[in-house]
Formats: sequence, structure tokens, C-alpha cells
Amino acid sequence: MSKSHTPAHTAEYYAEKFRLTVPLMAKHGISPTPRNYAVWFRYVSGETAALNECIDRLLEEKKAITDAMNNELFEEFLWECNIAQLEQARHDVQETLKETAATLINTGSDAARFGDALERFDASCSSAKSIQDVYGLLTEVLDETRKIKHSFNQVNEDFAVKSQEMDQLREELEQVKRQASRDALTGLTNRATFFELLNEKLNEEDTLTPHCLAMLDIDHFKRVNDTFGHLVGDKVIRFVAETLELSIKGQDTAARYGGEEFILLLPDTGLEGAAVLCNKIRERIAGSKLVRTGTRESLGQVTVSAGVAQFRHGEGHMELIQRADDALYRSKKNGRNRVTQA
Ligand code: GH3
Ligand code: MG
Ligand code: MG
Repeated sequence: MSKSHTPAHTAEYYAEKFRLTVPLMAKHGISPTPRNYAVWFRYVSGETAALNECIDRLLEEKKAITDAMNNELFEEFLWECNIAQLEQARHDVQETLKETAATLINTGSDAARFGDALERFDASCSSAKSIQDVYGLLTEVLDETRKIKHSFNQVNEDFAVKSQEMDQLREELEQVKRQASRDALTGLTNRATFFELLNEKLNEEDTLTPHCLAMLDIDHFKRVNDTFGHLVGDKVIRFVAETLELSIKGQDTAARYGGEEFILLLPDTGLEGAAVLCNKIRERIAGSKLVRTGTRESLGQVTVSAGVAQFRHGEGHMELIQRADDALYRSKKNGRNRVTQA
């Protein structure tokens, strides 16, 4: 008789053997008593070669295996090792339950319930009198495991849906935030956001770095509207906005200040540099030959006038804007399509 030693097994191992044992017993008409179950479980596990040889022979002879025969098999192959085997099985099951209980005990109420159930099983396991008791417990554990698996799947699904919803909400919020800071016609920063950025910049402690502000206004814009209509006027506004966007870089901000008026915040830029940039923009616009879509009819030369002012430490943002606006007014007065420094 081979010395029976049951190696450490996982709950999955027992579950798998359990799934095979029951139908096999049914197939050969073995009544489902604890002893019979123990014999056939051992047969399925293949851990006791002599037992397997015996059963294989009986199956080959196609004889009915009675309870009495099963009993003999049990006493011959399993009885002796029953105590050690029980100890081993109990140990294996307890270890598995403890590990699982420890991992799961804190993962939500269902999991906590499952963990409690496992701990109960652990306690029952300690008082189990026979290997059959342990197998019985395993069946219950399997049942609970199925339930918790279902519950986990549900939680996972709910979680996936919730996180998808949250991603969507976050995306919508980002979009609303983006829209709220943008001008609808041109996509440039809007006036309110520009004031926020300007105040932030002007409130910085640094008093050495120069910051400039430029106001730009399309010349004789009323004529564009009057000659070609508001829709064409809107396209011209968008064209100027695009030119501004393409001409600035880094920390610069271009905003639509009102109708056909624009404002630039140029951090770390001196008055001279700001004037150079504004002249570049002015030339770009004046040099563009704008035509109507479809008819290709020329819109005539579109020009802008600008006024630039450098921030003086201690002045408020309205004072700064006023000085830039005054400079713009002088550009207009002096013939338009020009840049004036405050
Ligand atoms: P100036 O050279 O002195 O600036 O002459 P101007 O004709 O541009 O005069 P003003 O700045 O006073 O007129 C701006 C005009 O721009 C008035 C208004 O009808 C028009 N306008 C303002 N906002 C919009 C807009 O969103 N779309 C269109 N198409 N026109 C606008
Ligand atoms: Mg204007
Ligand atoms: Mg104008």
C-alpha cells in the first residue's frame, strides 16, 4: 500500500476534483455517502496509485461497485492515513481561507461578508471530525465564492460604468471651461479671461521684467460691413484673429476685446519689442489680399491700427489699458494702419 501523503493544495484544486468526482460516482452508480465520496475523490486525485489500480480493475470487470466494496476500499486505502490526511486538508483549507479572508476583509460590505463567511468556515474546519466534513465545508465555500464572484463582477461593472460617466463628466466640464474662456466667433481668449490673466501678471512680485499691452482696432470696419454685409465682416474679424494667433508665441495672449477690437498681453516684452510685433501683425494684415468666397471679389485692403503701452509698476490694469487705447486713438488720428507707443 502506498504511503498516502496529501500535498498542500489550493481551494481551486479541491473544487476541480470535486467537479470530476460527483459525475463519476453518478456514472458508476455509487451512492453519495461521505465514505464513498472520500474513496472516489481520492481516485480522481490519483494520489494513491494502489487504490486507482484496484478501482480500474473493478471497472474493467464491469462489476457493480457496492457500498460494501467501497467500504473495503476506504478501510484499506484511506483509513490509515485518514488522520494525517485530515490534518493536511484542514491545514490547506484553513491557509487558503485565511489568505483570502485577509485580502478581502476590507474590500467593501459584500467582500467583508464573504470574509466573515470564510472565517466561520475556518472555525468549522478546526472542529471538523473527518475529511468528509472538510469536503462538505469546501462545497459551501465554493457556493459562497460563486456568490462573491457574482457580486464582484457586479461591482466591477458598476465601477466601469461609473468611471466612464466620470470621464465623460470631466470631459464635458473641460469643454465648458474651455468654451467659457473663449470668444465664440474667433476662438481667441475672451475679455473676462483676459482681465484675469492680466491681473495675475500685473500682481506678480517681479518689478524688473517689463510687460506690454497692445490694443488693435480694424480700420474703417463699418465700410466692410456696409459694403459686403455682416457675414463677410465676421470673416474679416476671424481673419485678423487668426493672424494675431499666428504672430504671437510663448506666454503671449491674444484676446477679442470687443466688436473689431483686439488686445494683446505680452509678458517679458519691452515697449520697443511690442511695437515691432504689432508692426509685423499690421504688415501681415495689410499685405493680405482678402477676397469673397465664391465670386473672388476683392474686399479691398484691410488694415489695423494699434497702440502699445508698457506696464508701469503700481498702475492698475485699467490705467494701462487706457494708455494703450490713447496710443491707438493717436494711430487712428494720424492716418490709421500704424502703431503708436504710449
Ligand atoms: P475706425 O477705423 O475708426 O475704427 O472705423 P470703424 O469703421 O472700424 O469704426 P468703429 O470701430 O467705431 O466701428 C466698428 C464697427 O464694427 C461697428 C460695428 O457694426 C462693427 N462690429 C462690431 N462687432 C462686430 C461683429 O462681431 N461682426 C461684425 N460683422 N461687425 C461688428
Ligand atoms: Mg472699434
Ligand atoms: Mg474700427
